[in-house]
Amino acid sequence: MEFEALSSAELSTYLRGVPSLYSLLNEPDELDITEVGDGNLNYVYFATNTRAPDRSVVVKQAPPFLRLVGKTWPLTRHRMEREVAALRRFGALCPAHVPRVYHADSELFLVVMQRLSSHRILRQGLMDGVVYPRLAGHLSTYLAHTLFYGSDLYLASDVKKQAVSAAVNTELCRITEDLVFTWPFEDHPSNVYSPAFARAEIERLWQSPALRVEVGEMKWSFMNDAETLLHGDLHTGSIMVNEDETYVIDPEFAFYGPMGFDIGAVLANLLLAWFSRAWHDRHAEPSGDAPSYGDWLLAQAAAIWNGFASEFATLWREHESRRGSHFIGGDRGGACAEAFRARFIERLFEQSLGFAGCKMIRRIVGMAKVADITSIADNALRATVEVRALRCAEQLLLRRRQLRSIEDVVALARDIASTRPALA
Ligand code: ADP
Ligand code: MG
Repeated sequence: MEFEALSSAELSTYLRGVPSLYSLLNEPDELDITEVGDGNLNYVYFATNTRAPDRSVVVKQAPPFLRLVGKTWPLTRHRMEREVAALRRFGALCPAHVPRVYHADSELFLVVMQRLSSHRILRQGLMDGVVYPRLAGHLSTYLAHTLFYGSDLYLASDVKKQAVSAAVNTELCRITEDLVFTWPFEDHPSNVYSPAFARAEIERLWQSPALRVEVGEMKWSFMNDAETLLHGDLHTGSIMVNEDETYVIDPEFAFYGPMGFDIGAVLANLLLAWFSRAWHDRHAEPSGDAPSYGDWLLAQAAAIWNGFASEFATLWREHESRRGSHFIGGDRGGACAEAFRARFIERLFEQSLGFAGCKMIRRIVGMAKVADITSIADNALRATVEVRALRCAEQLLLRRRQLRSIEDVVALARDIASTRPALA
């Protein structure tokens, strides 16, 4: 049967018919249904009690296609099961940073969840130059907890293997494999090249064996390294914020993959936001010696990685000391366990930079863009921002083993923006 989105009346009747929702929404006679989805993959609505506007929930339903493209790109509706399972799992690990699931329906492929009413999408906030004082701390905590507790560092070996198989997410992983790791590196019809962008810049990427090898390594890792339950699409459009709170939404791409993929997504999107500042800052009043918004953005990237690394190591250390054994086996003084931990985090940093590079490239060459960049109306300026971001991404991939710290990455980004190519 042909899929039809639920009408407002149907949705309203449905929601009022679920006892727990009926009482949560304060026994509504009528619900106001407003579609709020950004039209990416799914249908998303606010359902609000017309007489008690503070009683409101979010309803998200998966149609049997990728909404952005339409019915010509079919996609399993079972992706909603992945999203619900991931919301529940991440919510149990980080209740302060994940919207609560109120109700899930596996026949309609929909979820009803907590509405974040005073929060906005982080990407929008960053484009408007808003400072979120608690953002970095929250994201470090979210990443440390979700990545640690889904892994073999914490879970029993059999439990972890069962969890891996239960979270297989074939079709959505395939989207990432194609859109992030493959198509941007060939002249694929799905690619979208911005108007003033010099084709030679992209050709150079395609023709660079060194770069292609690194991207191949990242793709292989994405496909094979079932390290932990990932969010799988952790860009700044999947994060909702206000001054005090940070929530991560939209985990339908969740699967067991390499930890660096989620971290890299966050870093990549902060870097893209930062490179885009070149445009916004041209419109800003000069502020003397005060640190600019761009400085704040880069400081967040650094604080998120450093905060993550330290929290992750602490969770790990505490878990081993509670359990009285190390992942690596017996180690009386603990020095071997610490050395392994240091190596682990070093490798994770390299991986994160590699994934960040891939994620930045796909946003410039591939089909799905970011508003930070597409909102730059001046085509020449936009192309300059894109060339800089692309060169940064290339360096992240090629030099990820030499970049020893996140401060080195910040210095690299600044260097690229200050020396090559000048703003038009
Ligand atoms: P898609 O899977 O189609 O990308 P998202 O989960 O990203 O859908 O949701 C689309 C939009 O709906 C978000 O950008 C956000 O504006 C809004 N939204 C989603 N979940 C919530 C929520 N829990 N509270 C408030 N708004 C939400
Ligand atoms: Mg989304």
